[in-house]
Amino acid sequence: MIDFNFEKNCYGCRNCENICPTKAIRIEENKEGFLMPVIDEEKCIKCGMCNKKCPFLNLEVNKEKIRLNKWYSCYMKDEEKRKESSSGGIFPILAECIIEKGGHVCGCVWNDKLEAVHVVTNKPEEVNKMKGSKYVQSDLNETVVKIKSILNEGKIVLFTGTPCQVAAVKSYLVEEQNLYTMAVICEGVASPKVWRKYKGYIEEKNHSKLKDVKFRSKDIGWEPPVMKQIFKNGKIKSQLTYSTNIYGKGYLQGLYYRKSCNNCQYKYDNYNADIIVGDFWGADKELLKETNNNGISAILINTLKGEKIFNEINNKVTKKLIDIESVVKNNKMVIKSNKKHKNRDNFFRNIDDLNIEVNINKNINMSKQKQLKNAIKEIAYKTKTYDLIKNIIK
Ligand SMILES: Cc1cc2nc3c(=O)[nH]c(=O)nc-3n(C[C@H](O)[C@H](O)[C@H](O)COP(=O)(O)OP(=O)(O)OC[C@H]3O[C@@H](n4cnc5c(N)ncnc54)[C@H](O)[C@@H]3O)c2cc1C
Repeated sequence: MIDFNFEKNCYGCRNCENICPTKAIRIEENKEGFLMPVIDEEKCIKCGMCNKKCPFLNLEVNKEKIRLNKWYSCYMKDEEKRKESSSGGIFPILAECIIEKGGHVCGCVWNDKLEAVHVVTNKPEEVNKMKGSKYVQSDLNETVVKIKSILNEGKIVLFTGTPCQVAAVKSYLVEEQNLYTMAVICEGVASPKVWRKYKGYIEEKNHSKLKDVKFRSKDIGWEPPVMKQIFKNGKIKSQLTYSTNIYGKGYLQGLYYRKSCNNCQYKYDNYNADIIVGDFWGADKELLKETNNNGISAILINTLKGEKIFNEINNKVTKKLIDIESVVKNNKMVIKSNKKHKNRDNFFRNIDDLNIEVNINKNINMSKQKQLKNAIKEIAYKTKTYDLIKNIIK
């Protein structure tokens, strides 16, 4: 029977629930809003399958034997399509390549309640919904079981998600030649409960349900990211994702990450996806100019399988070999987990009692100087003068 400190280390992938032959494990949301296993000891037959499939317990099994360690700066040549993605638009090209081969793609979409969930599909219009980073933990539900049955039909599958989710899928499926994996560089995943509360709060404030949310709208380009909220009553609200939107600010500081994110095993040394994609925040001015500030990714080609598929999309991307230092310089979460936020416990203690905006505001760390800078940035964004101030106010 699976047994470790779930609250601290469980990734919430549901592998134990999905594999259990007697349905002795169910998954429930804890007080913080994260999925955790609950075990019915009477139903457990001690077969040990849950231990075998758990990504937390199988780090060694999950390690890639041959790693290529080739980093590239990379972006999709089609500029209009690239604008629909969070960074360089690598995901949709990989997905298209897999679908053209008769395969399926698994990734994260907003469902009709705007909850982040993983789905498996071979329909391009569904794959379109996977574009864009959703800064909340996605529920893998039973996708791993569906992937297994598609692989059993001899078809190929591309799984995309956070590094721990890739580890979960690889723990469950083991040595699958037809499985391709792409992980995003990940700083941490936010609590679905916090997202629900924030969503409810802005819906009330705007007298309308939300229709869509983009955390990384490229309204004024890739940098700075803009969070766009589209309401059913036609209202559209846009704010700078990390400097002025309250949910984005709390997320960036790690105020409501899952606890396992503060202790993530699946950082650089243990990356095991075929391809890892993130934002190339360290790109120099010339490269940024070349991309028209419409997005650029840093890509790690990690395995031979990753290299094979990356070579197949060659004519659709512009790429250049780079060194890891240029990526890590502005993206420390490639190599290490963020430290636990000092006010995390306080924030979650009040999660059910305080208004979400008040609770986030009370607990984020922000100097007066930083607040002032953020206010100036927001005014500049609203008055379309951001380009003029961006190099003065960092
Ligand atoms: C929670 C999260 C944290 C991130 N943190 C960083 C970071 O610290 N530094 C950095 O450089 N990059 C980070 N990224 C990655 C970055 O934002 C882009 O997702 C990545 O560069 C891929 O860009 P793209 O243009 O190729 O993909 P897009 O075309 O935008 O496609 C988005 C891809 O992300 C997947 N995805 C979206 N939301 C989720 C989710 N909630 N859970 C799992 N998978 C999801 C989709 O399945 C799809 O494959 C993060 C992404 C997420 C989802």
